[in-house]
Amino acid sequence: MLTIDQVTQKSAPRLGGLHPVLLAAVNALIQRSYARGVPIVITAGMRSFAEQNALYAQGRTKKGDIVTNARGGSSYHNYGLAVDFALLLPDGQSVSWDTKRDGDGDKLTDWQEVVQEAKKLGLEWGGDWTSFQDYSHLQMAFGLTTAQLKAGQRPTAEQVKMALSRINGGDEQVNKDVEITINLNGAKLTAGVLDNGTTYVPVRALAEALGAKVTYDPVNKTVNVETQ
Ligand SMILES: [Zn+2]
Repeated sequence: MLTIDQVTQKSAPRLGGLHPVLLAAVNALIQRSYARGVPIVITAGMRSFAEQNALYAQGRTKKGDIVTNARGGSSYHNYGLAVDFALLLPDGQSVSWDTKRDGDGDKLTDWQEVVQEAKKLGLEWGGDWTSFQDYSHLQMAFGLTTAQLKAGQRPTAEQVKMALSRINGGDEQVNKDVEITINLNGAKLTAGVLDNGTTYVPVRALAEALGAKVTYDPVNKTVNVETQ
């Protein structure tokens, strides 16, 4: 199993030049996808106008398949506002564009899991486009067209603040513990914590109330619950 450090290092060379908000979103996306069992790698980030024009030529004046409809200056990549991702396979080297893959075996395609997390972070997905679907592509447009960006417009300070708060605030919500009360047959037994869908309860309080015996084995770090 890949560590989060191995996964993040894989993308590091392609994060230069990104807009700070997109960088924050991408870092969060790498972490959250990993937490769901889906390691990803960023395969493209900031692209100069010249690099964009070279890509545009592919499948038109140069051989290969058409990979973009955008000339230099017409892609959000040219302003550090877009990235492309792919799945990072368990060997930590190979990359997959298989949108049907379910590497963590949770009956959701890995691709959809990443896209779900991306959208929560405020990213737009190229797979939603109607004219030319680009399943690897994620961007933050801030309501600006590439023509406006080309003319020098940039997201406002307020837009940046709101986007960052969505990225960071979402994180707090996911990790927020909720204090709860455990009732046994209608009477309060003890307090517990609900953390991201899992309820944590002091095991001794609950087990003993149900007539079981609780012992702790410090050597094996094991709690034994025994019923008669
Ligand atoms: Zn892209």
